[in-house]
Amino acid sequence: MKPFAYVRPASLPEAIAAHGGRPGARYLGGGTNLVDLMKLGVERPDTLVDLTRLPLGTVEETADGGLRIGSGVRNSDLAAHPLVRSRYPVIAQALLAGASGQLRNTATTGGNLLQRTRCPYFQDVAKPCNKREPGSGCGARDGVHRDHAVLGHSPQCIATHPSDLAVALAALDAAVELQGPGGSRTVPATDFHRLPGEHPEQDTLAEPGEIITAVLLPPDAAGLPARYRKARDRASYAFALASVAAVLDLGEGRVRRVALAFGGLAHRPWRATTAEELLVGRAPTEDAVQQAVEAELALAQPLRDNAYKVALARNLACEALNTLARGPRP
Ligand code: SF4
Repeated sequence: MKPFAYVRPASLPEAIAAHGGRPGARYLGGGTNLVDLMKLGVERPDTLVDLTRLPLGTVEETADGGLRIGSGVRNSDLAAHPLVRSRYPVIAQALLAGASGQLRNTATTGGNLLQRTRCPYFQDVAKPCNKREPGSGCGARDGVHRDHAVLGHSPQCIATHPSDLAVALAALDAAVELQGPGGSRTVPATDFHRLPGEHPEQDTLAEPGEIITAVLLPPDAAGLPARYRKARDRASYAFALASVAAVLDLGEGRVRRVALAFGGLAHRPWRATTAEELLVGRAPTEDAVQQAVEAELALAQPLRDNAYKVALARNLACEALNTLARGPRP
């Protein structure tokens, strides 16, 4: 492993200054992905800026009735938090569908959103990969790509984003709060992760040196019926082949509000706006749900070996929405 400097600042300004937006600097949260990538030689930082002593570890109610989740809150603590479980249970469902108990005890909210793709070509420095080494090619496109994207991919990259939490945040219209050398700003969670386009090396909209300080959950999504479903190769400790977060609010038998986000299908959580537009104002019959979901997935461009994902995602989304439409069991 390449030698690196390690600093543990006591304040946010110190952390931002220590990073300085330099290409060789990395922020360290739980380290459950970054340290693995360092061992593989994929990440070779010269400086690690440890954020774990910063005051980013609380969940607080906001003045407008939403929640502000500090980026240092551990995944296990977030999934167990009473306000999350009572108001935004889809967050807890998504978190508990990911990783293992040990990893969730260490991984942070901010780190969860910043984890890198698990594309095996990205993780193997002997293989071509435009995300790891721009211009080197994409080994997966004509290679092993059963787990890769069916939506929004580009000739440069067909990777998927691995976070379950990010999918739930997209469906809840959450926001990501960032602080960096240029000040602080918030970005809608649906926009935070990028599609690969010409620059697959950029996973997110975060600028060099910016820290995720918090995730903001809006008050109007609190208490709405919501559901997270995930299909994977094993019953636990596996990334999504396809997943879905669904929010469905009905009034007088019709859809007042619906949000649908897919995981495991694209380089970012895929907000299914076509399906949502088709469902709003309609009675959520099984036929209407299926038509809407199929209209969304008509946008898919499966590769040689991953067309199964389209049917998998359709079935997950229909099951989630139909279950929400039926309401709680008596
Ligand atoms: Fe790299 Fe993306 Fe191709 Fe995987 S899919 S090899 S991450 S460029």
